[in-house]
Amino acid sequence: MKKILIFLAILSLFACDDSISKLSLDNTAPNPVSNLQILETGGDYVKLIWSVPDSKDAAFYKIYKKLSTETETITNFIFTDQLQVNLQNTQQGIIIDSLAFSNNYDFAVSVCDESMNESELQKITGIETLNNNPVDTTPPGDIAQLQLVPTFSEGYEIIDVVITASFVAPGDDGDNGITEIEVRYSPFGPVNSDNWQTAFPYQGTVFSGIAGETTIIELPLKKCMAPPPVPPNYAFYFAARAIDEAGNTSAIKSFSGKITAEVIRKSCISCWECLDICPENAISKQNGKASIDLSKCVRCGDCILTCEEKGNEAIKYYITE
Ligand code: SF4
Ligand code: SF4
Repeated sequence: MKKILIFLAILSLFACDDSISKLSLDNTAPNPVSNLQILETGGDYVKLIWSVPDSKDAAFYKIYKKLSTETETITNFIFTDQLQVNLQNTQQGIIIDSLAFSNNYDFAVSVCDESMNESELQKITGIETLNNNPVDTTPPGDIAQLQLVPTFSEGYEIIDVVITASFVAPGDDGDNGITEIEVRYSPFGPVNSDNWQTAFPYQGTVFSGIAGETTIIELPLKKCMAPPPVPPNYAFYFAARAIDEAGNTSAIKSFSGKITAEVIRKSCISCWECLDICPENAISKQNGKASIDLSKCVRCGDCILTCEEKGNEAIKYYITE
């Protein structure tokens, strides 16, 4: 009888674990986008725009297209692009290019969360491209109020630092419509029209902005693949410009910032673990608390990790202007 009771107790433990793991799984798809519409049609492109869904865990959109002549099943929609969800905005959009002239297309947009749950597709069908691209010689308006958003980094290593910037997006032709935003950076000094061509293109993400909307972009430094990945002096220099489908560009706007580290004095319990771990002897005792000499610190993150392991979380990376 005793053995049976023990067996049942173990079984109930497993059952409990299983229910906990099921509880922690996210199987719920975000809400789909709404108000999907065509903003503009060209010979080889269309501009799609939609309302941002209200799901807090919405992470990115998947964009699909297919020829209208193909039967309308989800499997016939071909994944063409991905775009980060910007929950600060009310609308987002994308330019889909490389289309054939005078053809009919169907487009679809879905929303995914970090667990790869995907919402239902929102579709717009029978969109006919023009038989040529209209000549567009009007440049986009200028990016306005481009600025760094100072933040704590959540990462322990310098490569996990995310630079956050915000700006008010211009339109394609002046202040109307949707335009793509090109971002470049340099570890060596400010980026401007003189050195734009030799600055490094920011890897991997196409940002788009709806005219007049404040847009927030996140730039993980690890995506700055060109050497050196960590800029000398821990300063970084970014610049952005708007570009339309005809190659017309706005003026270049730039911003810069510094990656710095600091001991939050009230959280420091003076255990001196960070002094022992620092490879650069950059940390000293100042009035009974740890203090970082930034001229020696190489932002390796070892002290942050050590302090965190002790449960103190007294050292943070900052992004500052
Ligand atoms: S490890 Fe953290 S708590 Fe300990 S001395 Fe350094 S900063 Fe203070
Ligand atoms: S980040 Fe690295 S170099 Fe800088 S103070 Fe901490 S341990 Fe020292």
